[in-house]
Amino acid sequence: MKPLFDLHTHTIASGHAYSSLKENIEAAAERGLTALGISDHAPAMPGTCHSFHFGNYKVIRESLLGIRILKGIEANILDFDGSLDVGEDVLGKLEYAIASLHPPCIPFGTMEQNTRALIGAMANPYVKIIGHPDDDRYPLDYEEVVLAAQREKVALEINNSSFCPGSGRQNGVKNARIMLEVCRRHDVPVVLGSDAHIWYDVGEMGRCRALLREMNFPPELVLNCSPEGLDFLLNRKRDGSALPVSGGASAGEA
Ligand SMILES: [Zn+2]
Ligand SMILES: [Zn+2]
Repeated sequence: MKPLFDLHTHTIASGHAYSSLKENIEAAAERGLTALGISDHAPAMPGTCHSFHFGNYKVIRESLLGIRILKGIEANILDFDGSLDVGEDVLGKLEYAIASLHPPCIPFGTMEQNTRALIGAMANPYVKIIGHPDDDRYPLDYEEVVLAAQREKVALEINNSSFCPGSGRQNGVKNARIMLEVCRRHDVPVVLGSDAHIWYDVGEMGRCRALLREMNFPPELVLNCSPEGLDFLLNRKRDGSALPVSGGASAGEA
């Protein structure tokens, strides 16, 4: 299983990331990705850019170095109803939004509160991905989250950075494993994301792939494996399309 795209990457505009868009695109090309998504942190994150950053994405070409460039955002969930820190004026110009729980933008809630926050965010038509739902600081009811993702046609992220030593998130592997088991049981697809904050991590999903391989997780439920997976992810809320079945890949190649 070779990931074809990475939709969770940050540039220096995020305030605590260290590479330019050009460096990230070059890194994506070296990795052999076909598409790269820019998902800088939305304005409620301390130190990130103003919303004008997202409004001016129009200056960025659709394709560079042979890679499709997708314009996105990592929005902050602000409350337990799932409200985001950006509205339609920003989101309407983008190709996708990731919605995530981040300190200090929202307090650590109870399992019931965090679950309600994610489900509320999923109802937003611009949200295509829930970022890193894998953190013990924000405990979740995975059965409810996965069923809501299926209903709302939102992809749940398996986040490579959550699995790295030194990640601020807690017990990422343990939580991702629980979520993947529930996804497998209900046939709900996931998306892999690097959450790169520096160029050499763009497209880096080795820890995700190791976990999927260990669990023998079906590659047809990993959206990064096929071009159809990307179309499905970007368009699923619009056209209600069914999950594409990717041919050829097997768990052994993960
Ligand atoms: Zn960040
Ligand atoms: Zn995040």
